[in-house]
Amino acid sequence: MSGTAAQGPRLRPSLDGIPTYRPGKPAGADAFKLSSNENPYEPLPGVLEAAVVAAGSFNRYPDMAVGELTAELARRFDVPAEHIATGPGSVGVAQSLVSSTAGPGDEVIFAWRSFEAYPIITQVAGATPVPVPLTAGEEHDLDAMLAAITPRTRLIFVCNPNNPTGVAIRRDELVRFLDAVPGDILVVVDEAYREFLRDEQVPDGVELYRDRPNVCVLRTFSKAYGLAGLRIGFAIAHEPVATALRKTAVPFGVSQLAQDAAVASLRAEDALMVRVEALVVERARLREALLAQGWTVVDSQANFVWLRLGERTTEFAEACTAAGVIVRPFPGEGVRVSIGEVAGNDIFLATAEAFRKTL
Ligand code: PMP
Repeated sequence: MSGTAAQGPRLRPSLDGIPTYRPGKPAGADAFKLSSNENPYEPLPGVLEAAVVAAGSFNRYPDMAVGELTAELARRFDVPAEHIATGPGSVGVAQSLVSSTAGPGDEVIFAWRSFEAYPIITQVAGATPVPVPLTAGEEHDLDAMLAAITPRTRLIFVCNPNNPTGVAIRRDELVRFLDAVPGDILVVVDEAYREFLRDEQVPDGVELYRDRPNVCVLRTFSKAYGLAGLRIGFAIAHEPVATALRKTAVPFGVSQLAQDAAVASLRAEDALMVRVEALVVERARLREALLAQGWTVVDSQANFVWLRLGERTTEFAEACTAAGVIVRPFPGEGVRVSIGEVAGNDIFLATAEAFRKTL
Protein backbone atom coordinates (compact mmCIF):
# COMPACT_ATOMS: atom_id res chain seq x y z
CA MET A 1 0.00 0.00 0.00
CA SER A 2 1.42 3.39 -0.85
CA GLY A 3 1.83 5.99 1.90
CA THR A 4 -0.92 8.19 0.50
CA ALA A 5 -3.45 5.37 0.19
CA ALA A 6 -2.80 4.32 3.79
CA GLN A 7 -4.11 7.70 4.91
CA GLY A 8 -7.47 6.98 3.36
CA PRO A 9 -9.47 8.98 0.84
CA ARG A 10 -8.73 12.63 0.39
CA LEU A 11 -11.60 14.67 1.85
CA ARG A 12 -12.22 18.35 1.16
CA PRO A 13 -10.07 20.23 3.69
CA SER A 14 -12.84 22.83 4.04
CA LEU A 15 -15.00 20.22 5.81
CA ASP A 16 -12.88 20.76 8.93
CA GLY A 17 -14.41 24.20 9.42
CA ILE A 18 -18.03 23.03 9.26
CA PRO A 19 -19.77 23.22 12.62
CA THR A 20 -21.68 20.12 13.70
CA TYR A 21 -25.48 20.35 13.76
CA ARG A 22 -26.47 19.92 17.40
CA PRO A 23 -29.98 18.52 17.66
CA GLY A 24 -32.06 19.09 20.78
CA LYS A 25 -31.17 16.46 23.37
CA PRO A 26 -33.55 13.51 23.46
CA ALA A 27 -35.60 13.33 26.63
CA GLY A 28 -35.82 10.23 28.79
CA ALA A 29 -39.20 8.68 29.46
CA ASP A 30 -39.67 10.86 32.53
CA ALA A 31 -38.75 14.21 30.95
CA PHE A 32 -40.48 16.67 28.61
CA LYS A 33 -38.59 17.51 25.43
CA LEU A 34 -38.87 21.23 24.79
CA SER A 35 -35.67 21.46 22.78
CA SER A 36 -36.53 20.88 19.10
CA ASN A 37 -39.65 22.98 18.40
CA GLU A 38 -41.61 19.83 17.73
CA ASN A 39 -45.37 19.55 17.83
CA PRO A 40 -46.23 17.90 21.16
CA TYR A 41 -49.44 16.32 19.83
CA GLU A 42 -49.46 12.76 18.56
CA PRO A 43 -50.43 12.22 14.91
CA LEU A 44 -54.12 12.60 14.07
CA PRO A 45 -55.67 9.16 13.43
CA GLY A 46 -56.42 9.94 9.77
CA VAL A 47 -52.86 11.09 9.14
CA LEU A 48 -51.41 8.07 10.87
CA GLU A 49 -53.70 5.85 8.81
CA ALA A 50 -52.44 7.42 5.56
CA ALA A 51 -48.85 6.74 6.58
CA VAL A 52 -49.64 3.16 7.61
CA VAL A 53 -51.33 2.48 4.26
CA ALA A 54 -48.31 3.93 2.42
CA ALA A 55 -46.01 1.77 4.54
CA GLY A 56 -47.65 -1.27 2.96
CA SER A 57 -45.72 -0.63 -0.24
CA PHE A 58 -42.38 0.57 0.98
CA ASN A 59 -40.71 -2.08 -1.14
CA ARG A 60 -41.43 0.38 -4.00
CA TYR A 61 -39.79 3.73 -4.66
CA PRO A 62 -41.94 6.76 -3.92
CA ASP A 63 -43.49 8.98 -6.59
CA MET A 64 -40.44 10.99 -7.57
CA ALA A 65 -42.59 13.81 -8.96
CA VAL A 66 -44.49 14.06 -5.63
CA GLY A 67 -47.53 14.54 -7.87
CA GLU A 68 -50.50 14.36 -5.54
CA LEU A 69 -49.02 16.56 -2.85
CA THR A 70 -47.70 19.08 -5.37
CA ALA A 71 -51.17 19.38 -6.92
CA GLU A 72 -52.72 19.82 -3.46
CA LEU A 73 -50.19 22.52 -2.50
CA ALA A 74 -50.62 24.31 -5.84
CA ARG A 75 -54.38 24.52 -5.20
CA ARG A 76 -53.98 25.58 -1.61
CA PHE A 77 -51.54 28.43 -2.37
CA ASP A 78 -52.97 29.28 -5.78
CA VAL A 79 -49.60 28.88 -7.49
CA PRO A 80 -48.57 26.85 -10.55
CA ALA A 81 -47.51 23.29 -9.70
CA GLU A 82 -44.20 24.00 -11.46
CA HIS A 83 -43.43 26.53 -8.71
CA ILE A 84 -43.40 23.90 -5.98
CA ALA A 85 -40.37 21.81 -5.05
CA THR A 86 -40.42 19.37 -2.15
CA GLY A 87 -37.55 17.84 -0.24
CA PRO A 88 -36.52 15.81 2.81
CA GLY A 89 -37.46 18.49 5.35
CA SER A 90 -37.25 22.16 4.55
CA VAL A 91 -33.61 21.91 5.57
CA GLY A 92 -33.13 19.52 2.64
CA VAL A 93 -34.75 22.05 0.33
CA ALA A 94 -32.62 24.83 1.85
CA GLN A 95 -29.52 22.78 1.11
CA SER A 96 -30.61 22.42 -2.52
CA LEU A 97 -31.24 26.17 -2.69
CA VAL A 98 -27.69 26.87 -1.54
CA SER A 99 -26.13 24.33 -3.87
CA SER A 100 -28.24 25.71 -6.74
CA THR A 101 -26.89 29.22 -6.26
CA ALA A 102 -23.56 29.24 -4.44
CA GLY A 103 -20.19 27.53 -4.63
CA PRO A 104 -16.59 28.26 -3.63
CA GLY A 105 -15.94 31.99 -3.40
CA ASP A 106 -19.64 32.86 -3.23
CA GLU A 107 -21.32 34.31 -0.16
CA VAL A 108 -24.56 33.54 1.68
CA ILE A 109 -25.94 36.15 4.06
CA PHE A 110 -28.18 35.43 7.05
CA ALA A 111 -28.97 36.98 10.41
CA TRP A 112 -27.21 35.56 13.43
CA ARG A 113 -28.27 34.03 15.64
CA SER A 114 -30.71 32.21 13.41
CA PHE A 115 -31.37 28.66 12.25
CA GLU A 116 -28.13 26.82 12.84
CA ALA A 117 -28.23 24.91 9.56
CA TYR A 118 -27.65 28.07 7.47
CA PRO A 119 -23.86 28.26 8.03
CA ILE A 120 -23.55 24.47 7.77
CA ILE A 121 -25.28 24.05 4.42
CA THR A 122 -23.43 27.10 3.10
CA GLN A 123 -20.08 25.55 3.94
CA VAL A 124 -21.12 22.14 2.63
CA ALA A 125 -21.60 23.87 -0.74
CA GLY A 126 -18.10 25.33 -0.39
CA ALA A 127 -19.48 28.87 -0.09
CA THR A 128 -18.77 31.44 2.61
CA PRO A 129 -21.29 32.21 5.35
CA VAL A 130 -21.82 35.90 6.13
CA PRO A 131 -23.64 36.09 9.47
CA VAL A 132 -25.06 39.52 10.37
CA PRO A 133 -25.74 40.03 14.10
CA LEU A 134 -29.32 40.61 15.23
CA THR A 135 -30.08 44.04 16.70
CA ALA A 136 -30.13 44.56 20.47
CA GLY A 137 -33.90 44.02 20.24
CA GLU A 138 -33.31 40.56 18.67
CA GLU A 139 -34.52 41.72 15.25
CA HIS A 140 -33.02 41.09 11.81
CA ASP A 141 -30.72 44.04 11.12
CA LEU A 142 -31.93 44.43 7.55
CA ASP A 143 -29.85 47.55 6.86
CA ALA A 144 -26.71 45.73 7.96
CA MET A 145 -27.72 42.75 5.82
CA LEU A 146 -28.06 45.06 2.80
CA ALA A 147 -24.67 46.58 3.61
CA ALA A 148 -23.17 43.06 3.70
CA ILE A 149 -24.08 42.42 0.04
CA THR A 150 -21.04 42.12 -2.25
CA PRO A 151 -20.64 41.08 -5.89
CA ARG A 152 -20.16 37.52 -4.53
CA THR A 153 -23.48 37.37 -2.68
CA ARG A 154 -25.69 34.67 -4.18
CA LEU A 155 -28.33 33.97 -1.54
CA ILE A 156 -29.83 35.66 1.53
CA PHE A 157 -31.82 33.76 4.17
CA VAL A 158 -34.52 35.71 5.98
CA CYS A 159 -35.99 33.63 8.79
CA ASN A 160 -39.48 34.91 9.53
CA PRO A 161 -40.23 34.42 12.37
CA ASN A 162 -36.66 33.88 13.42
CA ASN A 163 -35.41 30.74 15.13
CA PRO A 164 -34.43 30.89 18.04
CA THR A 165 -35.83 34.30 19.02
CA GLY A 166 -39.31 34.06 17.49
CA VAL A 167 -39.20 37.71 16.40
CA ALA A 168 -40.91 38.44 13.07
CA ILE A 169 -40.25 41.10 10.45
CA ARG A 170 -43.20 43.29 9.52
CA ARG A 171 -44.45 44.07 6.03
CA ASP A 172 -43.05 47.58 5.45
CA GLU A 173 -39.59 46.60 6.58
CA LEU A 174 -39.47 43.36 4.62
CA VAL A 175 -40.84 44.91 1.44
CA ARG A 176 -38.31 47.74 1.66
CA PHE A 177 -35.56 45.15 2.10
CA LEU A 178 -36.69 42.97 -0.80
CA ASP A 179 -36.96 45.99 -3.06
CA ALA A 180 -33.38 46.98 -2.20
CA VAL A 181 -31.79 43.57 -2.88
CA PRO A 182 -30.40 43.26 -6.42
CA GLY A 183 -32.63 41.02 -8.54
CA ASP A 184 -29.87 38.50 -9.27
CA ILE A 185 -29.57 37.48 -5.61
CA LEU A 186 -32.00 34.82 -4.35
CA VAL A 187 -33.81 35.77 -1.14
CA VAL A 188 -35.18 32.78 0.75
CA VAL A 189 -37.93 33.68 3.19
CA ASP A 190 -37.89 30.76 5.61
CA GLU A 191 -41.36 30.48 7.10
CA ALA A 192 -40.97 27.23 9.04
CA TYR A 193 -43.12 28.67 11.85
CA ARG A 194 -45.58 30.62 9.70
CA GLU A 195 -48.72 28.95 11.10
CA PHE A 196 -47.94 30.19 14.62
CA LEU A 197 -47.87 33.84 13.54
CA ARG A 198 -50.59 36.07 14.94
CA ASP A 199 -49.15 39.52 14.20
CA GLU A 200 -51.20 40.68 11.22
CA GLN A 201 -48.52 43.15 10.20
CA VAL A 202 -46.22 40.29 9.24
CA PRO A 203 -46.58 39.55 5.53
CA ASP A 204 -47.19 36.15 3.99
CA GLY A 205 -44.07 35.28 2.01
CA VAL A 206 -46.21 33.64 -0.66
CA GLU A 207 -47.73 37.05 -1.46
CA LEU A 208 -44.27 38.62 -1.61
CA TYR A 209 -42.91 35.95 -3.96
CA ARG A 210 -45.63 36.36 -6.61
CA ASP A 211 -44.20 39.37 -8.40
CA ARG A 212 -40.57 38.93 -7.34
CA PRO A 213 -38.67 36.31 -9.39
CA ASN A 214 -35.75 36.36 -6.92
CA VAL A 215 -37.86 35.56 -3.85
CA CYS A 216 -38.55 32.02 -2.70
CA VAL A 217 -40.59 30.82 0.28
CA LEU A 218 -39.64 27.86 2.41
CA ARG A 219 -42.28 25.93 4.40
CA THR A 220 -42.30 22.72 6.38
CA PHE A 221 -44.65 19.99 7.56
CA SER A 222 -42.45 19.47 10.64
CA LYS A 223 -43.90 22.06 13.01
CA ALA A 224 -47.58 23.01 12.83
CA TYR A 225 -48.39 19.88 10.82
CA GLY A 226 -46.56 17.57 13.21
CA LEU A 227 -44.61 15.48 10.67
CA ALA A 228 -41.05 16.20 11.89
CA GLY A 229 -40.09 12.53 11.88
CA LEU A 230 -41.25 11.97 8.31
CA ARG A 231 -38.98 14.68 6.85
CA ILE A 232 -40.89 16.74 4.35
CA GLY A 233 -40.77 20.41 3.43
CA PHE A 234 -41.19 22.49 0.30
CA ALA A 235 -40.30 25.69 -1.48
CA ILE A 236 -42.49 27.95 -3.56
CA ALA A 237 -40.34 29.66 -6.17
CA HIS A 238 -40.49 30.88 -9.74
CA GLU A 239 -39.80 28.31 -12.39
CA PRO A 240 -36.03 28.66 -12.93
CA VAL A 241 -35.39 28.31 -9.19
CA ALA A 242 -37.93 25.50 -8.73
CA THR A 243 -36.42 23.65 -11.69
CA ALA A 244 -32.93 24.05 -10.23
CA LEU A 245 -34.23 22.62 -6.96
CA ARG A 246 -35.55 19.54 -8.69
CA LYS A 247 -32.17 19.09 -10.43
CA THR A 248 -30.10 19.38 -7.26
CA ALA A 249 -32.41 17.33 -5.01
CA VAL A 250 -31.49 13.80 -3.96
CA PRO A 251 -33.55 11.49 -6.21
CA PHE A 252 -36.51 9.93 -4.36
CA GLY A 253 -35.64 12.08 -1.33
CA VAL A 254 -39.21 12.23 -0.01
CA SER A 255 -40.73 8.92 1.06
CA GLN A 256 -44.26 7.87 0.10
CA LEU A 257 -45.14 7.82 3.81
CA ALA A 258 -44.17 11.47 4.04
CA GLN A 259 -45.99 12.40 0.83
CA ASP A 260 -49.23 10.67 1.79
CA ALA A 261 -49.14 11.91 5.39
CA ALA A 262 -48.60 15.46 4.10
CA VAL A 263 -51.61 15.19 1.79
CA ALA A 264 -53.70 13.80 4.68
CA SER A 265 -52.48 16.65 6.90
CA LEU A 266 -53.54 19.28 4.41
CA ARG A 267 -56.96 17.66 4.29
CA ALA A 268 -57.10 17.63 8.10
CA GLU A 269 -55.90 21.20 8.36
CA ASP A 270 -58.86 22.44 10.41
CA ALA A 271 -58.17 19.93 13.18
CA LEU A 272 -54.45 20.65 13.06
CA MET A 273 -54.97 24.41 13.27
CA VAL A 274 -57.08 23.95 16.42
CA ARG A 275 -53.97 22.41 17.96
CA VAL A 276 -51.81 25.24 16.66
CA GLU A 277 -54.18 27.74 18.27
CA ALA A 278 -53.89 25.93 21.60
CA LEU A 279 -50.09 26.22 21.35
CA VAL A 280 -50.39 29.92 20.55
CA VAL A 281 -52.57 30.42 23.63
CA GLU A 282 -50.04 28.50 25.69
CA ARG A 283 -47.23 30.65 24.25
CA ALA A 284 -49.04 33.77 25.50
CA ARG A 285 -49.49 32.19 28.94
CA LEU A 286 -45.77 31.43 29.17
CA ARG A 287 -44.75 34.89 28.05
CA GLU A 288 -47.03 36.62 30.53
CA ALA A 289 -45.84 34.41 33.38
CA LEU A 290 -42.19 35.04 32.48
CA LEU A 291 -42.76 38.80 32.27
CA ALA A 292 -44.45 38.67 35.69
CA GLN A 293 -41.38 36.86 37.03
CA GLY A 294 -39.26 39.79 35.84
CA TRP A 295 -37.71 38.33 32.66
CA THR A 296 -37.28 40.28 29.47
CA VAL A 297 -39.13 38.24 26.84
CA VAL A 298 -39.36 39.26 23.20
CA ASP A 299 -42.65 38.73 21.38
CA SER A 300 -42.26 35.28 19.84
CA GLN A 301 -44.45 34.52 16.86
CA ALA A 302 -43.26 30.91 16.73
CA ASN A 303 -43.78 27.77 18.85
CA PHE A 304 -41.05 28.64 21.34
CA VAL A 305 -39.86 31.39 23.65
CA TRP A 306 -36.37 32.82 23.97
CA LEU A 307 -34.63 33.80 27.18
CA ARG A 308 -31.35 35.67 27.03
CA LEU A 309 -29.18 34.35 29.84
CA GLY A 310 -25.64 35.14 28.71
CA GLU A 311 -23.08 33.39 30.89
CA ARG A 312 -25.80 31.69 32.96
CA THR A 313 -27.24 29.84 29.94
CA THR A 314 -25.72 26.42 30.56
CA GLU A 315 -26.52 26.58 34.25
CA PHE A 316 -30.16 27.40 33.49
CA ALA A 317 -30.43 24.55 30.98
CA GLU A 318 -28.99 22.16 33.56
CA ALA A 319 -31.52 23.34 36.15
CA CYS A 320 -34.28 22.60 33.64
CA THR A 321 -32.90 19.12 32.94
CA ALA A 322 -32.73 18.41 36.66
CA ALA A 323 -36.37 19.46 36.97
CA GLY A 324 -37.47 17.21 34.07
CA VAL A 325 -37.60 19.46 31.00
CA ILE A 326 -35.02 19.51 28.23
CA VAL A 327 -34.55 22.99 26.74
CA ARG A 328 -32.15 24.14 24.03
CA PRO A 329 -29.15 26.14 25.28
CA PHE A 330 -27.02 28.33 23.05
CA PRO A 331 -24.07 28.68 25.43
CA GLY A 332 -23.16 32.27 26.25
CA GLU A 333 -26.37 33.53 24.65
CA GLY A 334 -29.65 32.11 25.87
CA VAL A 335 -32.12 29.24 25.84
CA ARG A 336 -34.91 28.44 23.46
CA VAL A 337 -37.86 26.65 25.00
CA SER A 338 -40.44 24.99 22.75
CA ILE A 339 -44.10 25.26 23.70
CA GLY A 340 -44.98 21.73 24.71
CA GLU A 341 -47.46 19.95 26.93
CA VAL A 342 -48.91 22.12 29.70
CA ALA A 343 -47.30 19.95 32.40
CA GLY A 344 -43.85 20.39 30.86
CA ASN A 345 -44.38 24.10 30.36
CA ASP A 346 -45.34 24.42 34.03
CA ILE A 347 -42.11 22.73 35.13
CA PHE A 348 -40.16 25.16 32.94
CA LEU A 349 -42.01 28.13 34.46
CA ALA A 350 -41.35 26.96 38.00
CA THR A 351 -37.65 26.48 37.18
CA ALA A 352 -37.48 29.92 35.57
CA GLU A 353 -39.11 31.50 38.63
CA ALA A 354 -36.62 29.94 41.04
CA PHE A 355 -33.67 30.78 38.77
CA ARG A 356 -34.79 34.38 38.33
CA LYS A 357 -34.27 34.95 42.05
CA THR A 358 -30.59 34.02 41.65
CA LEU A 359 -29.88 36.62 38.96
N1 PMP B 1 -36.11 26.44 9.06
C1 PMP B 1 -36.14 26.80 10.34
C2 PMP B 1 -36.16 28.25 10.67
C3 PMP B 1 -36.13 25.84 11.35
O1 PMP B 1 -36.14 26.22 12.63
C4 PMP B 1 -36.13 24.48 10.99
C5 PMP B 1 -36.14 23.36 12.02
N2 PMP B 1 -35.57 23.58 13.19
C6 PMP B 1 -36.09 24.16 9.65
C7 PMP B 1 -36.10 25.16 8.70
C8 PMP B 1 -36.01 22.77 9.17
O2 PMP B 1 -37.08 22.01 9.48
P1 PMP B 1 -37.39 20.67 8.66
O3 PMP B 1 -36.13 20.27 7.95
O4 PMP B 1 -37.80 19.69 9.69
O5 PMP B 1 -38.46 21.04 7.70
